[in-house]
Amino acid sequence: MPKRIQAISAVLAAITVFLCGCGDNTPHTTDVQSTAGETTDVISVDISQIVTDDGTEPVTDAPEEEPLYWEGPHVKSLKIGGVDVSEFTVVCQSSAKTLKKARDELIKYVEAATGVTLKISDGESAHEICIGETDRDTDRVRAARDTLVNNGCAVICDGGRLYLTGADQTGTLYAVYTFLEEQLGCRFYTSKVEEIKFSRGVEVPDGFEYVHSPKLFNRDTFWYDTFEPAFAAKMKINGYVNRNMDAGYGSTIKYAGHFVHSLPYLAGTSTTPNDQPCLTDPAVYEKVLAQVRRLLRGYNDSKIVSVSQNDSFPGALGCQCENCKKLDDEQGTPMGSLLTFVNRIANDIKDEFPDVYVDTLAYRYTRKAPKTLKPADNVIIRLCSIECCFSHPLDDPECPANKEFCEDIEAWSKICKNLFIWDYTTNFMYYVNPFPNLGVLYDNVRFFINHNVIGLYEQGNGQSYSGEFGELRAYLIAKLMWDPDMTRERYYEYMDEFLKGYYGDGWRYIREYIDKTTAKAAEGHIGIYDPIDKIMPFTGTQIKRTAARVEFTKELQALWDKAYEEADDEHKPNVEKSSMQIISASLYTRWYKASSPEKLQHLHELMKKYNITFHRENVRVPDTVDYKTNINQW
Ligand SMILES: [Zn+2]
Ligand SMILES: [Zn+2]
Repeated sequence: MPKRIQAISAVLAAITVFLCGCGDNTPHTTDVQSTAGETTDVISVDISQIVTDDGTEPVTDAPEEEPLYWEGPHVKSLKIGGVDVSEFTVVCQSSAKTLKKARDELIKYVEAATGVTLKISDGESAHEICIGETDRDTDRVRAARDTLVNNGCAVICDGGRLYLTGADQTGTLYAVYTFLEEQLGCRFYTSKVEEIKFSRGVEVPDGFEYVHSPKLFNRDTFWYDTFEPAFAAKMKINGYVNRNMDAGYGSTIKYAGHFVHSLPYLAGTSTTPNDQPCLTDPAVYEKVLAQVRRLLRGYNDSKIVSVSQNDSFPGALGCQCENCKKLDDEQGTPMGSLLTFVNRIANDIKDEFPDVYVDTLAYRYTRKAPKTLKPADNVIIRLCSIECCFSHPLDDPECPANKEFCEDIEAWSKICKNLFIWDYTTNFMYYVNPFPNLGVLYDNVRFFINHNVIGLYEQGNGQSYSGEFGELRAYLIAKLMWDPDMTRERYYEYMDEFLKGYYGDGWRYIREYIDKTTAKAAEGHIGIYDPIDKIMPFTGTQIKRTAARVEFTKELQALWDKAYEEADDEHKPNVEKSSMQIISASLYTRWYKASSPEKLQHLHELMKKYNITFHRENVRVPDTVDYKTNINQW
């Protein structure tokens, strides 16, 4: 055993160490998890701070027996309860698609990591890996499973067996992926980029226990790569829009009919944005109620039906007839007429569909909570953060742009049993532009959870792959949605690990780029439709501002160039694809106008090469000549 591992064992008795296998010999941190009782947060231990059993400082730069890279399986040995994995068989006593998928994924990745092909059990043996509910379950396993909710999962080593089980079949699939990631060292960065860490030995001791239920009932993101069902399952995402998980990738939270902006379709009224049906017209009510019933009878595995307002722009209101306005005035918000309507629908369907929720938006003009009216128990309020600033955390007291949203979520969290969020994580002006919100994502997801939010939808670029950080953002969002209680350090460890795995050896330049753009954006407030002058704000005269911005984008471009140079052939395309954001940013600085046709051409070629679409319908042209000039060329 290498000396540094002995050192940790001496100090942290009864704690299991899982080698990160990163391969460098400099002092670094490794993940340690408690094996006793309840699952605890991952603790980061700086190896350089640990004193060895003979009282001396550990020699962290001592030559290893062999380098942490070698041909063949990356994990040299996997022991479960002290027994080599080759002694184990897999027990799965169900033919359900999701459980068979869980079993097959375990066999596939254990083989890829260790070279050992696990056999499927044909009779009881002392060393088994049990998938889902089996007749091998011990009291401890049953007790742990009984605590699980929201597709929660458990990895338990008890009496010579390893149990991978969950709140439901989906949770069991998640238990397999948790084991593969947290214990075996598999990493699922994107639908196409995976990695298995090098390790001299992985040990899962008898008594090991990981039991976790996410706080979010509905975890969803609209980043394109997560529509791939196999990847969504690995990311533990259970939203249904654009995903077909039927091939055994677990369950999703299904909606009957439209996901959002459904009222015009239910009422048979105009779908033009800003046109909202009258919510006190008895004929509208009867029509919507009949349509809701029809939908729910047709989609009997749906958990939610949306009765939500049509899309709208700032300043627009719902129906302003005398009856609607009266309800709105009484409640101090246009949510008065909408929630009265939605509560009535919810009440009228609850006997026939007792497990179904009626979802409505608190969006734009309806964002403010009513004075006295409360959502019924089977109503979901989905509060939308479209007006917010995303360069500062939502609860940053120094950011006036988010003050009203904080008041609104506070009010809703007090009266709403089922509070969901529709959040925005991309630049809607132009998806390929930088949107430096990676620093606030951590705070914002936790902020939602702290306000009793149980459903989260992180909207991104769902139209095509990302030329910005879509893949990174999807990964971090998924990690946060599963475990928002992680430390900030852990969040940045996930970020760095992704950068290294996805962008290769020059990843540190990309981290520097993220830190620089995040800090620059935080000097101002950024909304989702803001142009680059606001995303990278500078002060002074226009000439000075532009000169500074040009200089800044040159510095940033140099970081991408260095990252590209250091990446190997496997990682270069990922660097090139994400570097489109800085080309895009530099295009829209005035001094680049003269050279923009070539740059624009280059950007266009890259978008074509990586199958990234522009989607003009999502572009709103602001009042700046630069944008109009450039956008019109598409
Ligand atoms: Zn009306
Ligand atoms: Zn702000």
